[in-house]
Amino acid sequence: MMKNRVLVTGGSGFLGSHLCERLLDMGREVICVDNFFTGSKSNILHLLDNPFFEVIRHDVTFPLYVEVDEIYNLACPASPVHYQHDPVQTTKTSVHGAINMLGLAKRLKARIFQASTSEVYGDPEVHPQTENYWGNVNPIGLRSCYDEGKRCAETLFFDYHRQHRLSIKVCRIFNTYGPRMAMNDGRVVSNFVVQALKGEDITVYGSGNQTRSFCYVDDLVDGMVRFMEDTDDEFIGPMNLGNPMEFTIRELAETVIELTGSGSKILFKPLPSDDPMQRKPDITLAGEKLGWKPKTELRAGLARTIEYFESELQSM
Ligand code: NAD
Ligand code: UDP
Ligand code: UDP
Repeated sequence: MMKNRVLVTGGSGFLGSHLCERLLDMGREVICVDNFFTGSKSNILHLLDNPFFEVIRHDVTFPLYVEVDEIYNLACPASPVHYQHDPVQTTKTSVHGAINMLGLAKRLKARIFQASTSEVYGDPEVHPQTENYWGNVNPIGLRSCYDEGKRCAETLFFDYHRQHRLSIKVCRIFNTYGPRMAMNDGRVVSNFVVQALKGEDITVYGSGNQTRSFCYVDDLVDGMVRFMEDTDDEFIGPMNLGNPMEFTIRELAETVIELTGSGSKILFKPLPSDDPMQRKPDITLAGEKLGWKPKTELRAGLARTIEYFESELQSM
């Protein structure tokens, strides 16, 4: 039997590895493309025995010639620490990477999914954020390589759709967490959990009154796949995916301390520049179009994440 072959760029990263796993479970053949900048082989080690899973070490800023039926484009560092490490490469990954993957999709007449981000809304003045909000983004700041790169990628997706009739699905992902975030990822959930488990100070940046809304990875992957599998070629997004339950960063720190039973204290550090003050997705569109809504509450998702990092720390 012929299986549908799917390309996942960034497939060895946090979200990508969960997506590869889900697609294999659905009976697809999966090609994972990754340059292992922030991704790791350990995320996909358990998939390597599967004859329907292949890995290619490749940087998406260079052309790629493979034969597939569908493409999920996730390649891009997502943590501020990592995407600011080599900001020029970050913009190249989003922009040149999008051009190459869109060129590939065009040649193959394959549907292509883009992992965009809530960061396209910048420091939002509209709350919660709806898809028709154009955002409040600094074009020249430290976060711009990521924000503007992702915005330009959206432009390219929509222009390939209009100009070349490409079938696209553009998804704006809000803060997602769970097992297989890298220990050194630098994002807030992994930082707090690892700090709490090690009994180190919990580093809250700024007052801790800024908010985020945290989605558990399984819920997010479910939404991504439903969007891609949706047969309506006119439903192209952009579409928000995330959990609308909003928390302050200080509340997150307190919850992590409570759930780990840690003796860690909160240590306040300076707020990085352009750090958005509030973020919460309006997910009405995903609900109406896909019947999707997240199922995992923060405490339940954190408990699973804590369990994962506990076992990672033990095996070190
Ligand atoms: P991640 O850093 O764990 O994964 C990114 C993957 O892309 C890594 O495996 C990395 O090695 C790979 N990569 C980076 N540059 C590459 C290049 N030039 N060529 C090939 N591979 C490259 O991050 P993640 O959280 O899994 O994010 C995946 C995608 O989802 C990213 O595009 C990110 O912008 C988007 N996203 C994630 C979140 C979130 O909260 N996790 C939120 C919004 C958007
Ligand atoms: N591309 C690719 N794989 C393919 C087809 C195209 O990597 O199978 C790249 C190619 O390098 C090109 C880019 O995608 O630069 C954009 O392709 P498109 O056909 O849109 O533009 P053109 O080839 O005219 O520049
Ligand atoms: N943050 C924090 N301590 C950390 C890491 C992050 O207080 O150790 C804050 C950060 O300043 C931001 C929020 O947590 O306000 C979410 O940060 P993250 O890097 O996870 O993602 P962002 O949504 O900012 O891209």
